[in-house]
Amino acid sequence: MLSTTDTPRAIVREVGLRDGLQSIATIVPTAHKIEWLDAAHAAGQREIEVGSFVPARHLPQLADTAEVLAHALTLPGLVASVLVPNLRGAERAMECGAHSMIVPLSASHAHSLANLRKTPDEVVAEVARIRAARDAAGSQTLIEGGVGTAFGCTIQGEVAEEEVLRLMQALLDAGADRVSLADTVGYADPAGVRRLFEKARALVGDRLATAHFHDTRGMGLANCYAAWQTGITRFDACLAGIGGCPHAPGASGNVTTEDLAFMLERMGLATGLDLPALLALRRRVEGWLAGERLHGTLWQAGLPRHAAASLAAQPA
Ligand code: ZN
Repeated sequence: MLSTTDTPRAIVREVGLRDGLQSIATIVPTAHKIEWLDAAHAAGQREIEVGSFVPARHLPQLADTAEVLAHALTLPGLVASVLVPNLRGAERAMECGAHSMIVPLSASHAHSLANLRKTPDEVVAEVARIRAARDAAGSQTLIEGGVGTAFGCTIQGEVAEEEVLRLMQALLDAGADRVSLADTVGYADPAGVRRLFEKARALVGDRLATAHFHDTRGMGLANCYAAWQTGITRFDACLAGIGGCPHAPGASGNVTTEDLAFMLERMGLATGLDLPALLALRRRVEGWLAGERLHGTLWQAGLPRHAAASLAAQPA
């Protein structure tokens, strides 16, 4: 259902293989990540963040990013992105032919220093160097500036909206193609999301391309809805809601992919996703992550009986 050209669309970008796995202790073998990619692609996912080009000693879980990315690039129609913390990571992403690279920036100065060991403005300067390197290389890899802790942070507390908006604009001025806003630690509420996204979209329009919410305090889906009301149609999410943040104690993972896809479909938006296939993939991933805490609700109750057939096997 919901696949005619008139149907409004929404994109659920899978970030489980990066944001999800990076805070999980159980190392997932490359073969399982590739199985995950194949199954996610078969279930209709067309945008996937596959890993991170950080030094392997910092994140052994993502040490195989180049290999996982190489496989992702073989899947037809898949937009494969990677996280890159600096110019060196960006150079690897471009060499490997990633479709896009996400450069994280923390709007909270304290979180930025703790997490990235740079001030936010130093990250902006790095994005300018990344853009210069891309232009020099003639690379097609898109640069996305990911503004994190946009709704507050566990270390600093309040993060001023004006500072978030200033840094978002600065990233674009430095050469980022687009930006996203992220509630890294799960402090956002729907009213605040609506307010900040409205201001941000008034400033940069569709170059604010993605909303990234964690479900730490149970408001992830409500926050997605609030962002959608301001015109956002791309959302980051993790299968099984895995993940967290090393600087956010008790943080649960991102918004759960299958729950978000269910909500969007029920709202009449076409996601191109096959929900029973996503639920089946969730069970496989769960089997690889024994002892890890997973999240989400759709898997517990299942699809409403009358909806199960129509939510399956849509054309991609
Ligand atoms: Zn995140």
